[in-house]
Amino acid sequence: MNIIIFGPPGAGKGTQAKFLVKKLESFQISTGDMLREEINKNTDIGKKIINNMNEGKFVEDEIVNTLLEKIIFDKKKTNKLIFDGYPRTISQAKNLEVLLSKSNQKIDYVFFLNVNKDFILKRIEKRKILEKRTDDDANTILKRYDTFMEITKPVLDFYSKRSYFYEIDGSEKIDVISGKIDQIITL
Ligand code: AMP
Repeated sequence: MNIIIFGPPGAGKGTQAKFLVKKLESFQISTGDMLREEINKNTDIGKKIINNMNEGKFVEDEIVNTLLEKIIFDKKKTNKLIFDGYPRTISQAKNLEVLLSKSNQKIDYVFFLNVNKDFILKRIEKRKILEKRTDDDANTILKRYDTFMEITKPVLDFYSKRSYFYEIDGSEKIDVISGKIDQIITL
């Protein structure tokens, strides 16, 4: 089963992705984590993307798409993909469809965790203390939220027409959200 957890920064995508990884014995594909690792290891990609990341801007599609390609064709991950933070642009969504179809896979579910700006600001304040992320200050998060709304809205429109698309209130308690997701995937 391949699942996309979709939503603005701070919506709880990572938390829900981790639950699904455990439940379905799958792999969390967090492009944010992959990109942060490039920065931490100070790779060529890391050097290229650090400014964009710290300013809350998206990293170029080409870089993210390349990082993703290896994972899609990794046989041990086939049909065990839980996407968290990808795709974020129409070009990425189309790239994902092409790569999945080339590897005889498909998306089974898209869960859109819907939350508003005020809720995100409160949640990010907590995460900043827990995870010590350099892109979690209030200004960056507002920028990331606006970027999401502006660039990612077409991706939402792209998926919302599909039969496998489900919108979930992301401001509910974590276990309520995971309960709803579990119910849908076991239908
Ligand atoms: P995340 O951990 O998913 O909140 O992502 C943190 C940051 O990584 C984002 O604000 C972007 O700068 C970058 N990023 C993560 N995933 C993507 C993606 N699919 N496309 C472009 N930039 C991304």
